Amino acid sequence: MEGKAHGAHVLALPYPTQGHINPMLQFSKRLASKGVKVTLATTVFIFNSMQPRSSPSESVQFDAISDGHDEGGFAQAESIHSYLARLEAIGSKTLGDIVIKHKDTAHPIDCIVYDHCLPWALDVAKKFGLLGAAFFTQPCAVNFIYYHVHHGLLKLPISSTPISIPGLPLLELQDMPSFIYVAGSYPAYFEMVLSQFSNSDKADWALVNTFYELEVEAVDSMSKISPLLTIGPTVPSIYLDNRVENDNDYGLNLFTIDDSSVCTDWLSTKPAGSVVYVSFGSLAHLSNKQMEELAFGLKGSNFYFLWVVKASEEENLPEKFVEEIGDKGLVVKWSTQSEVLSNKAIGCFFSHCGWNSTLEALSLEVPMVVMPQWTDQPTNAKFVEDVWKVGVRVKVDENGIVGREEIESCIREVMEGERGKEMKENAKKWRHLATEAVSEGGTSDKNIDEFVSKLIKASP
Ligand code: UDP
Repeated sequence: MEGKAHGAHVLALPYPTQGHINPMLQFSKRLASKGVKVTLATTVFIFNSMQPRSSPSESVQFDAISDGHDEGGFAQAESIHSYLARLEAIGSKTLGDIVIKHKDTAHPIDCIVYDHCLPWALDVAKKFGLLGAAFFTQPCAVNFIYYHVHHGLLKLPISSTPISIPGLPLLELQDMPSFIYVAGSYPAYFEMVLSQFSNSDKADWALVNTFYELEVEAVDSMSKISPLLTIGPTVPSIYLDNRVENDNDYGLNLFTIDDSSVCTDWLSTKPAGSVVYVSFGSLAHLSNKQMEELAFGLKGSNFYFLWVVKASEEENLPEKFVEEIGDKGLVVKWSTQSEVLSNKAIGCFFSHCGWNSTLEALSLEVPMVVMPQWTDQPTNAKFVEDVWKVGVRVKVDENGIVGREEIESCIREVMEGERGKEMKENAKKWRHLATEAVSEGGTSDKNIDEFVSKLIKASP
């Protein structure tokens, strides 16, 4: 149900990739269900690539800013550094234009909810005298690691392990975000994630896409020095049994979906818990060799598998693989993932451990095999295996490859091993707690209410 209408109007600005747009759009729908009007702005290029382009509800409308690459987006940029610089310069100006456009209407913008990776949006909010809320798309534990680095509390390069950070388990180097454990990798992105704290003292809120029960110690520790509100998990509510209107799915894809019934039709012919779902999200690219090992590991496990291979990676599949697997496996270019994960036929999620995928697996009760690739994924994987105990992490060999035998044995462990049974029980618990957190009166729901009520008070 959409809540009672009032004057509050939020301008939401995700970082322009699928994994950042999904949680921001879900959060926007939650705000709409509480009577807040939301304008979600993404770049012109992304706006034109979106499927569908229609907004999910009267109360959530789409608009566009420019990153200076309206025709080709990020792929047109000379470097990551130059892309981010243009996004900031041209994005700031065009974000301001949206604020101005609504200024003398019945619903002027009251607050900019901006992706933590785009702290310059807070400067735009303050320039126009608006409220500003940072929206963190990664777990609290990861934010707290970056907080420690930014404030010089954790010195780089790391000279001794294990690493101790209040509220977090002891961490080895391989458990740290990739920008830290592969020192010097992606310096522009590392600078971007650290810069989220550059002006955070001026933000009116820090909203984190997690739920309190999942990260009690990390949330408590970080809140003591940097107040935050947990508002997640931002998983489509239809699968959590606490339905919000127009929330059947994320509802916005940047990739072309194979006919959406292809997956569900195929899954409907498979017994409960018999299928391994494999996806590495929207950004990760596996090498030729790694794709080959994964393909033969899946085949060798002899379980059914549904594998998302993005169009850009199809050429890395072993020759004739798709023909040879027959009905044992289905390879698609993109899926409606939350729908797939909620299907009874799925027994395990073989994942890169992106934060949305992790939250979806936890909330939809699917144990995991995790093969982290970069950014926050190694830290998420550490929690999946050792803290939440809902998955196993693959071991990488001396050449940086995860071999087919390792892949096969991790899948077996989750699908039919003793540990797998324990993981399934734990996964049930997390689903229950996730649903409670976002249901009426739950920890995240109360935090969203608190955010909305302050917003309403501040809106003229
Ligand atoms: N996703 C999807 N279909 C796919 C693969 C991924 O809908 O075939 C969605 C997935 O449900 C998640 C998002 O894309 O919400 C990926 O975000 P995540 O943080 O897991 O990874 P990223 O793409 O940012 O690496």
